[in-house]
Amino acid sequence: MKIDIVTIFPDFFRGPLDHGIIRRAQEAGLAAIEVHDLRAFAHDRHKTVDDRPFGGGEGMVLKPEPIFECIEALNVASREGRHDVRQTVVLLSAQGKRFDQSVANELAALERIVLICGRYEGVDERVGHYLADRELSIGDYVLSGGELGAAVIVDCVTRLIPGAVGNQASTQQESFTTFSQTESGDGPSSTCTSGGLLDYPHYTRPADFRGMGVPEVLASGNHDQIRRWRRRTALEKTLRNRPDLLEKAALSDEDQKLLAQITGKNL
Ligand code: SAH
Repeated sequence: MKIDIVTIFPDFFRGPLDHGIIRRAQEAGLAAIEVHDLRAFAHDRHKTVDDRPFGGGEGMVLKPEPIFECIEALNVASREGRHDVRQTVVLLSAQGKRFDQSVANELAALERIVLICGRYEGVDERVGHYLADRELSIGDYVLSGGELGAAVIVDCVTRLIPGAVGNQASTQQESFTTFSQTESGDGPSSTCTSGGLLDYPHYTRPADFRGMGVPEVLASGNHDQIRRWRRRTALEKTLRNRPDLLEKAALSDEDQKLLAQITGKNL
């Protein structure tokens, strides 16, 4: 996959993309990430990329010309043809559709993603309207720039590229993931896809840390009990922290029973 990031702060990405899975994915040739300095596409002496807003008001707005020229220089397919060649141009924006795990899965299936980072009061609306295919927001809050959002998207999408994570099955068992359950019988973890819930709690050694123990069932070796415990605790945590997810989650009859037990207990 090729990922291009367009920004006025290219140095911002030194660091966030140089560690762990993202670094290894680049080294393994699974992801080619390039950062482009928007100012290189400004033509005046001061490398101006922003201007005052029409209609007055606070702050500055990123101008359309450098952004259009930059995207054109990247040889991205025309807007009409992008879908067919599995490319997309994304404008980071607080006004965008919410980026979540299902959007991440959608993006991970593409060949090329271009991420345009806004700054100041935002980006001239013609960029979102005529150049980008979609606007994405990483959450309901306002950041000072799109760079952190782009880093979030690159991280989340890159780890979904087949081969990026050592054990691919692990990305299917995590919070929010709605892949269908795997049927292989190789131990308890393979039967614990989250089905749109939050992940279950994880523990590692030592079994006793300063008097804080580990649930006994996890050391029992009983795969079915472990699976049920994980499912119940995932349901409990989802109910406590993100009850909204339960409405869309794929709940089995067993889940419904566990949920009834949990809510009965909480009453
Ligand atoms: N005036 C805008 C905020 C501009 S913040 C508004 O009220 O919606 C400057 C830039 O930061 C934006 O152009 C966008 O690229 C980025 N940004 C801010 N919040 C974001 C969010 N939640 N998700 C993604 N990008 C965001």
